[in-house]
Amino acid sequence: MPSGMLTFFRLNSLPDSLLLATLLLGAIGFVAAVILFFASKFFYVEEDPLIDEVSNCLPLANCGGCGFPGCKGLAEAIVKAGSMNGLICPAGNNKINSDIAKLLDIEAVASIPCVAVLHCNEKCNNASVKAIYDSAISCAFAATISAGKNACPYGCLSFGDCVSVCKFDAISVNSETRFPEIDEKKCTGCSACVKVCPRNLIEIIERDIFEDCNYEACIKLKLKKI
Ligand code: SF4
Ligand code: SF4
Repeated sequence: MPSGMLTFFRLNSLPDSLLLATLLLGAIGFVAAVILFFASKFFYVEEDPLIDEVSNCLPLANCGGCGFPGCKGLAEAIVKAGSMNGLICPAGNNKINSDIAKLLDIEAVASIPCVAVLHCNEKCNNASVKAIYDSAISCAFAATISAGKNACPYGCLSFGDCVSVCKFDAISVNSETRFPEIDEKKCTGCSACVKVCPRNLIEIIERDIFEDCNYEACIKLKLKKI
């Protein structure tokens, strides 16, 4: 510290130093606030009010299934494109599509109702355990450590990454089997769970196909009473 400043602090009492520091911080805060105020005025971009109106038609779950960070991102893309082609909420339905189409006076695009199906034979308890895992409660993390604790390198890791991303309360991990169960009545087919599963165990299937399907995973899901 320069000798001049040392002398200054020695000559002044502690309360005076505190007062100086407070005044300095206050002045810096004031100048920063003034800069931010003018910057916000200068860079202000007026938003099309239709974006909020379209956004309010969407489920507002911000599940990210559409590929945008949230519902507002999809709403903005639809308004800018002036069309819904390729811009559909995967968790939505035809009522939502027609509300948006009416609002923007554009042609509605039909949704294909879907459901998530889990491809693991629910025999996790039969898989032999090759190691004791004592780390982060995360499927993504566990999968990076020697492909998980079980000898089966394909099966469910049971930490519920899929559960935590589901905004529709449609998956839960069964406390006895430690296996995720999908409530097909609540599932919107948004695909958020598909994206996070490190084992690629979840698939989105069109509901028409699902209803007629005799594949074991679909039958199990249809029979499940959650
Ligand atoms: S189960 Fe998966 S696809 Fe179904 S609503 Fe939840 S996150 Fe979306
Ligand atoms: S289905 Fe995938 S994300 Fe869900 S608990 Fe199993 S391994 Fe984890």
